[in-house]
Amino acid sequence: MWPPIDLIAAEPREQPAPRYAGPLRDSFGRRINYLRISLTDACNLRCVYCMPEEMRFRPRAELLSDDEMLAIVRVAASLGVTKIRLTGGEPTIRPGVVELVRAIVATPGIEQVAMTTNGLLLAELAEPLARAGLRGLNVSVDTLDATKFRRITRWGDLRRVWDGIAAAEAARIQPLKLNAVVTAGFNEDEVVPLARLSIARPWHIRFIELMPLGSVADFQQEAVVSSQQTRALIEAELGPLYPVAGHDGSDPARPYRLAGAQGQIGFISTVTEPFCAGCNRFRLTADGKLRLCLLRDREVDLLTPLRNGCTIGELNDIVRNAVWHKPWGHGLPEGEIPQIRLMSQIGG
Ligand code: SAM
Ligand code: SF4
Repeated sequence: MWPPIDLIAAEPREQPAPRYAGPLRDSFGRRINYLRISLTDACNLRCVYCMPEEMRFRPRAELLSDDEMLAIVRVAASLGVTKIRLTGGEPTIRPGVVELVRAIVATPGIEQVAMTTNGLLLAELAEPLARAGLRGLNVSVDTLDATKFRRITRWGDLRRVWDGIAAAEAARIQPLKLNAVVTAGFNEDEVVPLARLSIARPWHIRFIELMPLGSVADFQQEAVVSSQQTRALIEAELGPLYPVAGHDGSDPARPYRLAGAQGQIGFISTVTEPFCAGCNRFRLTADGKLRLCLLRDREVDLLTPLRNGCTIGELNDIVRNAVWHKPWGHGLPEGEIPQIRLMSQIGG
């Protein structure tokens, strides 16, 4: 069901990265300056497309401590990473999250720290997070209907998410983006009401294609709604979508606007239209692995060397080498489904 990728699907050769000075690059010449950090694999929801209800989470001792995470952030920043996104699991349930955000924001070289959250705890945390220096929030909300929200998240209370979004607005955290994964049989009929929010609000409403990972991949593959289908649903009801000029090629969401709208609508088409050429990111999992591509299982362990007392210079070399080997193109068209983690264990 996956279309072919019209991109180079070659794997970089497994040799040490050549010694090069300056900011992080990979073997394809992409400049890598964006690190997404999962603060925890645990979550206070169990979205049907993300994890099974009986999901078990890693014990705290297997997760990076704050000091270990900050050491990695300092190394990444020294190698030219300027932008960090905190995710999870649910990042807001990590103990001490506000202090951790403050410390990451204060790291020399880091210019922007943003977060992706389900919003349940934002009513209490938006203001302290804003004061700690958080710039940019993506809140996942797949429906405006409380009953459907409970069905998708298994027990979530949509009112709390809206209270959280209101708190984020009051705290002036910008940009504010709402993310919706479109899942057949759960929320295709919510696409239009969600898109309509962009007319009166300056929000970015982004529709994400479902990606297959791990043990829930079968369900995920059956429930995919392509961005093209989502876009057609919106345009049939709300009129044409106009491309927004000045699209930053590293932003996976291609931005559009409805006539007269304050906000934008974006489509993240990882499955049907991969955006590998503009990819500037890598990921750090809560258990200390660098993941170079969301949809490729190859990972590089940082936790073990850190706990074995490696030097900053050694950590530097491991990160540089890992990034050099960042792959190009996912393997979904060839039926290669990432197996070792679910989305909640990577961070999206
Ligand atoms: N818990 C936070 C949240 O829900 O925003 C952060 C972590 S969550 C894994 C990050 C994003 O990944 C969310 O927008 C979520 O909807 C999305 N996501 C989860 N599973 C997915 C899947 N199989 N395919 C595509 N997106 C997925
Ligand atoms: Fe939790 Fe986010 Fe996954 Fe939903 S999508 S179960 S909120 S990690």
